[in-house]
Amino acid sequence: MYRETEIAEDTRARMLAWRRDIHAHPETAFEEHRTANIVAQALGLMDISVHRGLGGTGVVGSLKNGEGPSIALRADLDALNMQELGNHEHKSTCNGKMHGCGHDGHTAMLLGAAEHLSRHKPFKGTVHFVFQPAEENEGGGRKMVEEGLFDLFPADAVYGMHNFPGVPRGQFMIRAGTMTAYLDTFEIRVTGKGCHGAMPETGIDSVVIAAQLVNALQTIVSRRTSATESAVVSVTQIHGGDTWNVVPENVVLRGTVRTLDAAIQDNVEAMMGQICAGVAQTNGAKIELDYRRGYPGVVNTPGETAAAVAAAASLVGSEQVNTDIKPAMGSEDFAFMLQERPGAYIGIGAGEGENPPPLHNPYYDFNDAILPLGAAYWVALVKQQLAA
Ligand SMILES: [Zn+2]
Ligand SMILES: [Zn+2]
Repeated sequence: MYRETEIAEDTRARMLAWRRDIHAHPETAFEEHRTANIVAQALGLMDISVHRGLGGTGVVGSLKNGEGPSIALRADLDALNMQELGNHEHKSTCNGKMHGCGHDGHTAMLLGAAEHLSRHKPFKGTVHFVFQPAEENEGGGRKMVEEGLFDLFPADAVYGMHNFPGVPRGQFMIRAGTMTAYLDTFEIRVTGKGCHGAMPETGIDSVVIAAQLVNALQTIVSRRTSATESAVVSVTQIHGGDTWNVVPENVVLRGTVRTLDAAIQDNVEAMMGQICAGVAQTNGAKIELDYRRGYPGVVNTPGETAAAVAAAASLVGSEQVNTDIKPAMGSEDFAFMLQERPGAYIGIGAGEGENPPPLHNPYYDFNDAILPLGAAYWVALVKQQLAA
Protein backbone atom coordinates (compact mmCIF):
# COMPACT_ATOMS: atom_id res chain seq x y z
CA MET A 1 0.00 0.00 0.00
CA TYR A 2 1.17 3.49 -0.69
CA ARG A 3 1.45 6.62 1.41
CA GLU A 4 -1.63 8.72 0.90
CA THR A 5 -2.73 8.49 4.52
CA GLU A 6 -1.79 12.04 5.40
CA ILE A 7 -4.84 13.23 3.47
CA ALA A 8 -7.40 13.43 6.28
CA GLU A 9 -10.70 11.57 6.26
CA ASP A 10 -12.81 14.71 6.01
CA THR A 11 -10.82 15.93 3.00
CA ARG A 12 -11.24 12.54 1.34
CA ALA A 13 -14.97 12.67 1.90
CA ARG A 14 -15.17 16.16 0.45
CA MET A 15 -13.13 15.16 -2.61
CA LEU A 16 -15.58 12.34 -3.26
CA ALA A 17 -18.54 14.68 -2.90
CA TRP A 18 -17.00 17.34 -5.21
CA ARG A 19 -16.08 14.72 -7.77
CA ARG A 20 -19.54 13.19 -7.97
CA ASP A 21 -21.33 16.51 -7.85
CA ILE A 22 -19.24 17.82 -10.74
CA HIS A 23 -19.69 14.54 -12.61
CA ALA A 24 -23.46 14.79 -12.33
CA HIS A 25 -23.37 18.36 -13.68
CA PRO A 26 -20.94 18.36 -16.60
CA GLU A 27 -20.18 21.64 -18.37
CA THR A 28 -18.23 22.02 -21.61
CA ALA A 29 -15.74 24.55 -22.95
CA PHE A 30 -15.98 28.03 -21.41
CA GLU A 31 -19.38 27.24 -19.91
CA GLU A 32 -18.01 25.78 -16.68
CA HIS A 33 -19.86 28.35 -14.52
CA ARG A 34 -21.32 25.99 -11.95
CA THR A 35 -18.07 24.03 -11.71
CA ALA A 36 -16.07 27.24 -11.31
CA ASN A 37 -18.48 28.33 -8.55
CA ILE A 38 -17.86 25.08 -6.67
CA VAL A 39 -14.11 25.53 -6.99
CA ALA A 40 -14.13 29.21 -6.00
CA GLN A 41 -16.39 28.63 -3.00
CA ALA A 42 -14.31 25.70 -1.80
CA LEU A 43 -11.05 27.67 -2.11
CA GLY A 44 -12.64 30.62 -0.33
CA LEU A 45 -13.59 28.41 2.61
CA MET A 46 -9.95 27.33 2.82
CA ASP A 47 -8.80 30.96 3.16
CA ILE A 48 -7.10 30.81 -0.19
CA SER A 49 -7.26 34.00 -2.24
CA VAL A 50 -9.36 33.42 -5.33
CA HIS A 51 -9.11 35.02 -8.77
CA ARG A 52 -11.96 34.33 -11.16
CA GLY A 53 -12.61 34.91 -14.81
CA LEU A 54 -9.13 34.28 -16.19
CA GLY A 55 -9.63 32.64 -19.58
CA GLY A 56 -13.38 33.00 -19.22
CA THR A 57 -14.37 30.51 -16.54
CA GLY A 58 -10.89 29.78 -15.21
CA VAL A 59 -10.18 30.00 -11.49
CA VAL A 60 -6.84 30.49 -9.74
CA GLY A 61 -6.33 30.12 -6.00
CA SER A 62 -3.13 31.40 -4.40
CA LEU A 63 -1.80 30.21 -1.07
CA LYS A 64 1.19 32.05 0.32
CA ASN A 65 3.16 30.95 3.33
CA GLY A 66 6.14 33.25 3.83
CA GLU A 67 8.88 33.88 1.31
CA GLY A 68 10.09 31.15 -0.98
CA PRO A 69 9.74 29.73 -4.45
CA SER A 70 6.42 29.49 -6.23
CA ILE A 71 4.75 26.64 -8.00
CA ALA A 72 1.62 26.32 -10.17
CA LEU A 73 -0.49 23.16 -10.10
CA ARG A 74 -3.07 22.78 -12.83
CA ALA A 75 -6.35 20.90 -13.15
CA ASP A 76 -9.02 21.09 -15.86
CA LEU A 77 -12.73 21.81 -15.41
CA ASP A 78 -14.44 20.82 -18.64
CA ALA A 79 -16.56 17.88 -19.77
CA LEU A 80 -17.17 16.48 -23.26
CA ASN A 81 -20.04 16.71 -25.70
CA MET A 82 -20.97 13.04 -25.53
CA GLN A 83 -23.76 10.94 -24.12
CA GLU A 84 -23.00 9.02 -20.94
CA LEU A 85 -24.16 5.39 -21.07
CA GLY A 86 -23.07 4.23 -17.61
CA ASN A 87 -25.76 3.99 -15.00
CA HIS A 88 -24.22 4.92 -11.68
CA GLU A 89 -25.90 7.13 -9.12
CA HIS A 90 -23.94 10.27 -10.01
CA LYS A 91 -24.37 9.91 -13.77
CA SER A 92 -24.69 13.00 -15.93
CA THR A 93 -27.92 14.92 -15.49
CA CYS A 94 -27.23 16.86 -18.65
CA ASN A 95 -28.22 15.24 -21.92
CA GLY A 96 -25.33 15.00 -24.38
CA LYS A 97 -22.65 16.12 -21.94
CA MET A 98 -20.38 13.92 -19.89
CA HIS A 99 -17.21 13.96 -17.83
CA GLY A 100 -15.66 11.32 -20.06
CA CYS A 101 -12.04 12.29 -19.41
CA GLY A 102 -11.97 12.50 -15.62
CA HIS A 103 -11.53 16.25 -15.32
CA ASP A 104 -14.11 16.04 -12.52
CA GLY A 105 -11.58 13.89 -10.64
CA HIS A 106 -8.66 16.17 -11.52
CA THR A 107 -10.55 19.14 -10.10
CA ALA A 108 -11.47 17.25 -6.93
CA MET A 109 -7.90 16.05 -6.36
CA LEU A 110 -6.45 19.55 -6.70
CA LEU A 111 -9.11 20.92 -4.33
CA GLY A 112 -8.24 18.16 -1.86
CA ALA A 113 -4.57 19.09 -2.06
CA ALA A 114 -5.45 22.76 -1.58
CA GLU A 115 -7.42 21.93 1.55
CA HIS A 116 -4.57 19.88 3.00
CA LEU A 117 -1.94 22.49 2.16
CA SER A 118 -3.99 25.38 3.54
CA ARG A 119 -4.64 23.48 6.76
CA HIS A 120 -1.08 22.32 7.47
CA LYS A 121 1.05 24.73 5.43
CA PRO A 122 3.97 22.32 5.15
CA PHE A 123 5.88 24.63 2.78
CA LYS A 124 7.55 28.03 2.41
CA GLY A 125 6.57 30.04 -0.62
CA THR A 126 3.50 30.31 -2.82
CA VAL A 127 1.28 27.67 -4.40
CA HIS A 128 -1.03 28.66 -7.26
CA PHE A 129 -3.92 26.27 -7.88
CA VAL A 130 -4.90 26.69 -11.53
CA PHE A 131 -8.30 25.41 -12.69
CA GLN A 132 -8.50 25.86 -16.42
CA PRO A 133 -11.55 25.74 -18.68
CA ALA A 134 -11.89 24.14 -22.09
CA GLU A 135 -9.06 21.65 -22.16
CA GLU A 136 -10.69 19.31 -24.64
CA ASN A 137 -10.89 21.28 -27.88
CA GLU A 138 -10.82 24.98 -27.42
CA GLY A 139 -7.54 25.76 -25.73
CA GLY A 140 -8.63 27.18 -22.38
CA GLY A 141 -5.03 26.73 -21.22
CA ARG A 142 -3.81 28.91 -24.07
CA LYS A 143 -6.42 31.54 -23.22
CA MET A 144 -5.31 31.67 -19.59
CA VAL A 145 -1.70 32.08 -20.68
CA GLU A 146 -2.65 34.80 -23.18
CA GLU A 147 -4.58 36.63 -20.49
CA GLY A 148 -1.48 36.76 -18.33
CA LEU A 149 -1.64 33.67 -16.12
CA PHE A 150 2.05 33.75 -15.27
CA ASP A 151 2.23 37.55 -15.02
CA LEU A 152 -0.57 37.59 -12.48
CA PHE A 153 0.62 34.42 -10.77
CA PRO A 154 4.39 34.17 -11.22
CA ALA A 155 5.45 30.57 -10.87
CA ASP A 156 8.91 29.03 -11.11
CA ALA A 157 7.40 25.87 -12.54
CA VAL A 158 4.06 24.42 -13.54
CA TYR A 159 2.80 20.87 -13.12
CA GLY A 160 -0.12 18.91 -14.56
CA MET A 161 -1.59 15.46 -14.02
CA HIS A 162 -4.01 13.22 -15.93
CA ASN A 163 -5.64 9.94 -14.94
CA PHE A 164 -5.09 6.91 -17.17
CA PRO A 165 -7.54 4.01 -16.81
CA GLY A 166 -5.20 1.79 -18.86
CA VAL A 167 -2.49 2.01 -16.19
CA PRO A 168 -3.04 0.14 -12.89
CA ARG A 169 -4.00 2.16 -9.85
CA GLY A 170 -0.95 2.81 -7.69
CA GLN A 171 1.34 3.53 -10.64
CA PHE A 172 2.49 6.75 -12.26
CA MET A 173 3.85 7.29 -15.76
CA ILE A 174 5.89 10.09 -17.24
CA ARG A 175 8.73 10.80 -19.63
CA ALA A 176 11.20 13.64 -19.98
CA GLY A 177 10.85 15.51 -23.28
CA THR A 178 7.85 15.18 -25.57
CA MET A 179 4.99 13.35 -23.87
CA THR A 180 2.05 14.20 -26.17
CA ALA A 181 1.89 15.11 -29.83
CA TYR A 182 1.66 18.43 -31.65
CA LEU A 183 -1.85 18.59 -33.08
CA ASP A 184 -2.50 20.51 -36.30
CA THR A 185 -5.39 20.53 -38.76
CA PHE A 186 -5.57 21.57 -42.36
CA GLU A 187 -8.03 22.48 -45.07
CA ILE A 188 -7.12 22.36 -48.76
CA ARG A 189 -9.41 24.11 -51.22
CA VAL A 190 -9.01 22.96 -54.81
CA THR A 191 -10.44 25.22 -57.51
CA GLY A 192 -10.44 23.67 -60.99
CA LYS A 193 -12.82 24.48 -63.80
CA GLY A 194 -16.23 22.91 -63.67
CA CYS A 195 -17.47 21.31 -66.87
CA HIS A 196 -19.64 18.60 -68.40
CA GLY A 197 -18.73 15.14 -67.14
CA ALA A 198 -18.71 13.89 -70.71
CA MET A 199 -16.19 16.51 -71.87
CA PRO A 200 -13.50 16.75 -69.16
CA GLU A 201 -11.07 18.30 -71.65
CA THR A 202 -13.11 21.51 -71.47
CA GLY A 203 -12.46 21.92 -67.74
CA ILE A 204 -9.94 21.25 -64.98
CA ASP A 205 -11.01 18.28 -62.89
CA SER A 206 -10.83 19.14 -59.20
CA VAL A 207 -11.77 15.55 -58.24
CA VAL A 208 -8.75 14.08 -60.00
CA ILE A 209 -6.62 16.78 -58.42
CA ALA A 210 -7.98 15.89 -54.98
CA ALA A 211 -7.04 12.25 -55.60
CA GLN A 212 -3.50 13.29 -56.57
CA LEU A 213 -3.27 15.35 -53.41
CA VAL A 214 -4.35 12.49 -51.17
CA ASN A 215 -1.69 10.25 -52.69
CA ALA A 216 1.05 12.87 -52.70
CA LEU A 217 0.40 13.79 -49.07
CA GLN A 218 1.10 10.19 -48.06
CA THR A 219 4.68 10.56 -49.26
CA ILE A 220 5.38 13.17 -46.57
CA VAL A 221 5.53 10.42 -43.98
CA SER A 222 6.44 7.40 -46.10
CA ARG A 223 9.16 8.91 -48.32
CA ARG A 224 10.25 12.21 -46.82
CA THR A 225 10.36 11.67 -43.05
CA SER A 226 13.14 9.57 -41.56
CA ALA A 227 12.09 6.14 -40.32
CA THR A 228 13.44 7.10 -36.91
CA GLU A 229 11.19 10.15 -36.73
CA SER A 230 7.42 10.08 -36.72
CA ALA A 231 4.48 11.96 -38.11
CA VAL A 232 0.88 11.26 -39.01
CA VAL A 233 -0.82 12.94 -41.96
CA SER A 234 -4.47 11.92 -42.30
CA VAL A 235 -6.93 13.22 -44.88
CA THR A 236 -10.24 12.70 -43.12
CA GLN A 237 -12.72 14.54 -45.35
CA ILE A 238 -13.23 15.07 -49.08
CA HIS A 239 -16.15 17.21 -50.19
CA GLY A 240 -17.02 17.92 -53.79
CA GLY A 241 -19.55 17.40 -56.50
CA ASP A 242 -23.34 17.23 -56.60
CA THR A 243 -24.37 15.00 -59.44
CA TRP A 244 -23.28 12.35 -61.98
CA ASN A 245 -22.47 14.38 -65.02
CA VAL A 246 -20.85 17.56 -63.72
CA VAL A 247 -17.14 17.85 -62.97
CA PRO A 248 -17.20 20.10 -59.91
CA GLU A 249 -15.38 23.39 -59.86
CA ASN A 250 -14.30 22.93 -56.22
CA VAL A 251 -13.24 20.16 -53.89
CA VAL A 252 -12.33 20.66 -50.24
CA LEU A 253 -10.09 18.27 -48.30
CA ARG A 254 -9.58 18.38 -44.57
CA GLY A 255 -7.49 16.40 -42.16
CA THR A 256 -5.08 16.33 -39.27
CA VAL A 257 -1.33 16.21 -38.69
CA ARG A 258 0.36 14.86 -35.56
CA THR A 259 4.07 15.14 -34.82
CA LEU A 260 6.32 14.71 -31.80
CA ASP A 261 8.89 17.33 -32.58
CA ALA A 262 8.59 21.00 -33.48
CA ALA A 263 11.15 20.70 -36.31
CA ILE A 264 9.26 17.79 -37.90
CA GLN A 265 6.06 19.81 -37.53
CA ASP A 266 7.67 22.68 -39.46
CA ASN A 267 8.85 20.25 -42.15
CA VAL A 268 5.44 18.66 -42.59
CA GLU A 269 3.79 22.05 -42.96
CA ALA A 270 6.40 23.14 -45.51
CA MET A 271 6.08 19.89 -47.50
CA MET A 272 2.31 20.22 -47.61
CA GLY A 273 2.71 23.70 -49.04
CA GLN A 274 5.15 22.38 -51.63
CA ILE A 275 2.88 19.54 -52.67
CA CYS A 276 -0.14 21.82 -53.00
CA ALA A 277 1.81 24.29 -55.12
CA GLY A 278 3.23 21.50 -57.29
CA VAL A 279 -0.08 19.73 -57.89
CA ALA A 280 -1.70 23.09 -58.67
CA GLN A 281 0.92 23.90 -61.25
CA THR A 282 0.82 20.44 -62.82
CA ASN A 283 -2.92 20.71 -63.35
CA GLY A 284 -3.34 24.41 -63.96
CA ALA A 285 -5.61 24.63 -60.94
CA LYS A 286 -5.69 26.84 -57.88
CA ILE A 287 -4.98 25.13 -54.55
CA GLU A 288 -5.14 26.96 -51.25
CA LEU A 289 -3.73 25.39 -48.10
CA ASP A 290 -4.95 26.56 -44.72
CA TYR A 291 -2.65 24.92 -42.17
CA ARG A 292 -3.78 25.55 -38.61
CA ARG A 293 -1.55 24.89 -35.66
CA GLY A 294 -3.48 23.46 -32.73
CA TYR A 295 -2.11 22.24 -29.41
CA PRO A 296 1.67 22.00 -29.25
CA GLY A 297 3.34 18.97 -27.72
CA VAL A 298 3.58 18.60 -23.98
CA VAL A 299 7.34 18.81 -23.50
CA ASN A 300 8.45 17.97 -19.96
CA THR A 301 11.63 19.71 -18.84
CA PRO A 302 14.32 17.45 -17.30
CA GLY A 303 14.62 18.99 -13.82
CA GLU A 304 10.86 19.22 -13.26
CA THR A 305 10.35 15.69 -14.62
CA ALA A 306 12.83 14.46 -12.01
CA ALA A 307 10.92 16.41 -9.35
CA ALA A 308 7.62 14.86 -10.41
CA VAL A 309 9.18 11.38 -10.42
CA ALA A 310 10.60 11.90 -6.94
CA ALA A 311 7.26 13.13 -5.58
CA ALA A 312 5.41 10.17 -7.07
CA ALA A 313 8.08 7.70 -5.95
CA SER A 314 7.85 9.02 -2.39
CA LEU A 315 4.26 7.73 -2.39
CA VAL A 316 4.32 4.51 -4.38
CA GLY A 317 8.01 3.56 -4.61
CA SER A 318 10.22 4.16 -7.61
CA GLU A 319 9.44 0.77 -9.16
CA GLN A 320 5.83 1.95 -9.57
CA VAL A 321 6.82 5.08 -11.49
CA ASN A 322 7.35 4.30 -15.17
CA THR A 323 9.70 6.97 -16.51
CA ASP A 324 10.12 5.44 -19.94
CA ILE A 325 6.68 5.50 -21.53
CA LYS A 326 6.24 6.13 -25.23
CA PRO A 327 4.93 9.57 -26.23
CA ALA A 328 1.18 9.57 -26.85
CA MET A 329 -0.24 10.78 -30.17
CA GLY A 330 -3.09 12.46 -28.30
CA SER A 331 -2.81 16.11 -27.34
CA GLU A 332 -3.23 18.27 -24.27
CA ASP A 333 -3.42 22.02 -23.94
CA PHE A 334 -1.30 22.02 -20.76
CA ALA A 335 1.39 22.31 -23.46
CA PHE A 336 0.72 26.07 -23.66
CA MET A 337 1.65 26.47 -20.00
CA LEU A 338 4.80 24.42 -20.56
CA GLN A 339 5.79 26.80 -23.35
CA GLU A 340 5.89 29.56 -20.73
CA ARG A 341 7.39 27.81 -17.74
CA PRO A 342 9.44 24.70 -17.01
CA GLY A 343 7.30 21.90 -15.72
CA ALA A 344 6.08 18.35 -16.00
CA TYR A 345 2.91 16.48 -16.81
CA ILE A 346 2.43 13.11 -15.17
CA GLY A 347 -0.03 10.26 -15.68
CA ILE A 348 -1.64 8.68 -12.64
CA GLY A 349 -2.81 5.08 -13.02
CA ALA A 350 -6.55 4.67 -12.51
CA GLY A 351 -7.02 1.12 -13.78
CA GLU A 352 -9.12 -1.26 -11.76
CA GLY A 353 -10.36 -4.72 -12.75
CA GLU A 354 -10.54 -6.20 -16.24
CA ASN A 355 -10.64 -3.82 -19.20
CA PRO A 356 -11.80 -0.60 -17.54
CA PRO A 357 -13.44 1.72 -20.10
CA PRO A 358 -10.85 4.06 -21.66
CA LEU A 359 -10.97 7.85 -21.60
CA HIS A 360 -13.74 9.31 -23.80
CA ASN A 361 -15.68 6.04 -23.65
CA PRO A 362 -19.42 6.47 -22.87
CA TYR A 363 -19.10 4.04 -19.92
CA TYR A 364 -15.99 5.70 -18.46
CA ASP A 365 -16.21 7.03 -14.91
CA PHE A 366 -13.32 8.53 -12.93
CA ASN A 367 -11.98 6.02 -10.42
CA ASP A 368 -12.65 7.59 -7.01
CA ALA A 369 -10.19 5.20 -5.38
CA ILE A 370 -7.31 7.36 -6.69
CA LEU A 371 -8.57 10.65 -5.24
CA PRO A 372 -6.39 10.42 -2.09
CA LEU A 373 -3.30 9.36 -4.05
CA GLY A 374 -3.71 12.18 -6.56
CA ALA A 375 -4.09 14.76 -3.80
CA ALA A 376 -1.13 13.23 -1.97
CA TYR A 377 0.98 13.60 -5.13
CA TRP A 378 0.31 17.34 -5.26
CA VAL A 379 1.07 17.66 -1.54
CA ALA A 380 4.31 15.66 -1.85
CA LEU A 381 5.38 17.78 -4.82
CA VAL A 382 4.77 21.05 -2.96
CA LYS A 383 6.55 19.84 0.19
CA GLN A 384 9.49 18.74 -1.89
CA GLN A 385 9.80 21.81 -4.16
CA LEU A 386 8.88 24.40 -1.54
CA ALA A 387 10.64 22.77 1.40
CA ALA A 388 9.92 24.67 4.60
ZN1 LIG B 1 -10.11 14.22 -22.92
ZN1 LIG C 1 -8.47 14.94 -20.28
